[in-house]
Amino acid sequence: MPSTHRRIVLASRPEAEAGPENFRLEDVATPELRDGQVLVRHRFLTVDPYMRMRMNDVKSYVPPQALDETMGGGAAGEVVESRSPDFSPGDSVTGPGGWQEMSVLKASALRRVDAKLLPIETYLGPAGMPGVTAWYGTLKLIAPKPGETVVVSAAAGAVGGIAGQIARAAGARVVGVAGGPEKCRHVVDDLHFDACVDYKAADFDTALKDACPNGIDGIFENVGGAVLDACMRRLNPFARIALCGLISGGYSAKRLPLANVTPLLVTRARIQGFIISDHQDILAEAQADLAARLADGRLVWHRSVAEGLENTPAAFLGMLAGKNLGKQLVRLD
Ligand code: NDP
Repeated sequence: MPSTHRRIVLASRPEAEAGPENFRLEDVATPELRDGQVLVRHRFLTVDPYMRMRMNDVKSYVPPQALDETMGGGAAGEVVESRSPDFSPGDSVTGPGGWQEMSVLKASALRRVDAKLLPIETYLGPAGMPGVTAWYGTLKLIAPKPGETVVVSAAAGAVGGIAGQIARAAGARVVGVAGGPEKCRHVVDDLHFDACVDYKAADFDTALKDACPNGIDGIFENVGGAVLDACMRRLNPFARIALCGLISGGYSAKRLPLANVTPLLVTRARIQGFIISDHQDILAEAQADLAARLADGRLVWHRSVAEGLENTPAAFLGMLAGKNLGKQLVRLD
């Protein structure tokens, strides 16, 4: 076992926008393995919006990230040493290893994955937490019917790109909302949405109306604020809104993206917030379905990959600012 490895810790909490000064790269002793534990060498790390929320010292559905501790988050890699009968060296796994080169975790925290079926990083994206989030919100909350119109915001991102493809496979007309013409082109040409509207363009409201001539029956909401308001103005009676994320507020705890709820009353629409970790009951079914769709090409995905642990904060901050196309990952080897 190596005696030390590199990690990134939270050095300070941001006042408003997070920046590189909030993180610190350092060496740390690799812990000795105890019974039931496994040492994993990380190949890929994931950076996700919820990590920004954890940088605030506020009560939320996830506890705050501790200062001077390894930034928490998902990692994918191979078992190097095992003191658990459930894992052997060479096994491909994902787990909450955090922003570091290797981790020692309880065997029960790890998921064995099939790196021959799908590239290992897929299990941090469409076959992992973001994919399961898209699957649950689309199929269990919106439950689109053939011919209905479903709008997906942050459509060029990890969750949105998968949600829209699942809704379309269920027979819906799917309209994405994304920032900028290049992302909108990707959403239509590569992810096969029916249309995509640029929320940064001056004519966003009109373009959304034109893209949804029959109104909106379902919203997979990742953004909130003005984007959600514009979509809610076009709701059809008995529409369903899966409230997945509110990233337009930046998760800074000081900029809450409020929306006007009047259309909910008029249309008798249903809005349901959800946190995917509450829905362990669907995990196995969703993971198996997503892996099958990815393996036979019914689902496609894009990844933005940063190289090297030291570039993890920049990849994370870039993702919050919309620099990613598809799932933002960091490759460590
Ligand atoms: P993405 O891959 O979609 O990356 C984040 C994207 O957010 C950026 O690419 C950017 O796209 C968009 N964005 C950033 N700032 C703004 C803004 N001010 N207005 C509009 N869009 C903005 O991330 P994920 O797919 O991982 O997450 C998407 C959403 O899903 C987030 O809100 C996240 O918190 C939520 N989520 C919720 C879960 C749950 O259990 N409820 C689980 C996982 C994710 P663009 O360039 O188009 O602006």
